[in-house]
Amino acid sequence: MTGCQQCALPLPVSPEADSALICGECLHNPPPFTHTSAAFRYLPPISDQITRFKHQRDLVAGRFLSTQLAQQLRLDYEYQAWPDAITAVPLHWQRQLWRGFNQAAYISRQLSLELKIPLLHCCRRKKATVKQQQLSRKQRLKNLRQSFEIMTNAKDLHLALIDDVMTTGTTARELSSILLKAGAKRVDVWVLARTPTPGT
Ligand SMILES: [Zn+2]
Repeated sequence: MTGCQQCALPLPVSPEADSALICGECLHNPPPFTHTSAAFRYLPPISDQITRFKHQRDLVAGRFLSTQLAQQLRLDYEYQAWPDAITAVPLHWQRQLWRGFNQAAYISRQLSLELKIPLLHCCRRKKATVKQQQLSRKQRLKNLRQSFEIMTNAKDLHLALIDDVMTTGTTARELSSILLKAGAKRVDVWVLARTPTPGT
């Protein structure tokens, strides 16, 4: 998939174009993570498979999507070092109560097995006390930042942060920044799919 090297946003260029492509958003507001790999664009029919995996625990779809991501990663990391460990984005707090299944943790386990990279359970979500919908954008970001907690020593580690879909990249930015502040040396983001335009 041709996209921004940093956030994987699909860009309207041919695969033969310069490989060091960076999108406008990453140029103007550089994210703390170094690189994003995505196996797919978040469009039908892949988006339907992701929904079935996420909301109906369709593990056949989950395994297929994770294997496709592993194949994409083998290409993306042909000329760069693999991360030292894989870590999953903790389940978003607004979904935690009604959906016990963390799709990011499932993808992480599959990738760890396929790529032989250890899993590290280094972040968790703190209990949510405020309803996110009632907050302004600024308050939401603050709330998001305060909702993650680092449990394990991430010092000097190159980490891969796993999520199912990257939309605006806000969660990936916040969590990467927390991991880097905790001493991680580099954070990459691995997602099944990337939305074609930010915020959609
Ligand atoms: Zn970008």
